[in-house]
Amino acid sequence: MKIEHIEFYHVSIPLDEPFMLSWVPGYPMTENQFILVRMTTDDGIVGESAGISIGETYASYGPTISSFIVGRDPFDVEGFLNMLEVEGTMGLRLAWLEPAFWDIMGKACGQPVYRLLGGGNNRIRAYYSTGELREPNRRADDLIQMRERGFKAVKLRFHNLDWREDMKVVEKAREVIGDSMEIMVDANQAMRYEILQPGPRWDLKTATDVARALEEYDAYWLEEPLDRGDYEGMRELRQRTSIRIAGGEINWRLQEFATLVQSRCLDILQPDAAYVGGISTTKKIAALAQASGLGFEPHTWGNGISLLINMQVMASSLQCKFCEFPYDPPSWTLEGRDGILAEPIDIDSEGFVHVPEKPGLGFVIDEEKLKKYGRKVFEF
Ligand SMILES: [Mg+2]
Repeated sequence: MKIEHIEFYHVSIPLDEPFMLSWVPGYPMTENQFILVRMTTDDGIVGESAGISIGETYASYGPTISSFIVGRDPFDVEGFLNMLEVEGTMGLRLAWLEPAFWDIMGKACGQPVYRLLGGGNNRIRAYYSTGELREPNRRADDLIQMRERGFKAVKLRFHNLDWREDMKVVEKAREVIGDSMEIMVDANQAMRYEILQPGPRWDLKTATDVARALEEYDAYWLEEPLDRGDYEGMRELRQRTSIRIAGGEINWRLQEFATLVQSRCLDILQPDAAYVGGISTTKKIAALAQASGLGFEPHTWGNGISLLINMQVMASSLQCKFCEFPYDPPSWTLEGRDGILAEPIDIDSEGFVHVPEKPGLGFVIDEEKLKKYGRKVFEF
C-alpha cells in the first residue's frame, strides 16, 4: 500500500462570539482556523489529520511536503517520523501529519487506533478545560452548569498580571463546588505570547507562591508554571510544593521528554500528538511516564480532530486519568471547535468522553461543512 494523493484545506470556522484566549492577552479570536490534510492510498483508503496552522503557508510548502509523503507506505510510521525529524530541523514542524497514517492503518485493519495501540477501554473522564479569564462569580455560575452537565473536573486559567486575582476564582470555585470537582490550574508560562498586550511573567518565586497558595484549595495540578526550558526551576519548584507540576504540551521530540524526566521537572507529562511527534511519539512518552512512575495526561486544544487524535492515545494508556475537553461557551463551543465533523464530540451524563468505535481516528468529515468553511490550498 502507498499514499498516492494528498490535499490540504484551510478551514476557518466562525465563532459565535470572540474567544478571549487567556494565553494571548488582548487577542479576540473570531475564527477557529486550522489545516486539514487528506491523504489517499492506491487502494482508495483516505486518512485525515489536522494541525493548527496558517493555511496560506501550506500552499507554498505543499510541493515540499507532498514530495516526502506521496509514494510512502502508510504503515512505515517510524520512517516517516525520521523524515519529520529532518524537516523539523530545517524549520517545518509537521508532526500533525503523522496521525493521518494511523487513520489509514486503522481503516485498513478495520479497528479504531486506540485498539491498534493496545487499549481496551474507550471511556475517559473529561475535564472542563476553560480558555478565558472570567470574574469569580461568572465562573462560579459556569461551574454549577458544568457540574450538572456531568463534569467532575475543571481546569482554570491563571493569566492576570497579578496571580492573586486568579486565586480569587479558585477560592470562589471551591466555595460553590466544594469537593465535587477536581480543580486543575494552567499558567501557560511555557511560552509567553505578548503580541498585543503584556502578560504575566512568572519566576520561581512567583510559581512557588502560587503553588503554595493552591495547596490550600487542594488543586490537582499546576500546569506550565515556568518556561519550558527552565529545568532547574521546575525541579526546585517540585521540591517546594506538594501540588503536582504538569507540563510538556509544546515540548518537541521524545528526547525533550527524556530530559524533563531525567531532570525530575514534572509529576505529569502532557505531550500533544500534534506537536511532539505524532501518535507514535506520544505513545512512547506514555511508556516513559509509566516506567518513571509519572502521570500521563496528554494536552489537546484547537479542533475536534486534534482532540480525537489525542483521545486515541489516552484510551490506550492505563495511567491516563483525564481527557482535556476544550470548552468555554458561549465563545468556545462544540460547534466552533468541531464544526466540520459530522458529529461533535461530547461527554456523557457522567462526564466521560468515548473514543468512537469507527476504524481509524474515528471522525467523519461533513463534506457540506467542509465546503462551507474550508478552501483547498494545495493538491498533488
Ligand atoms: Mg496547557
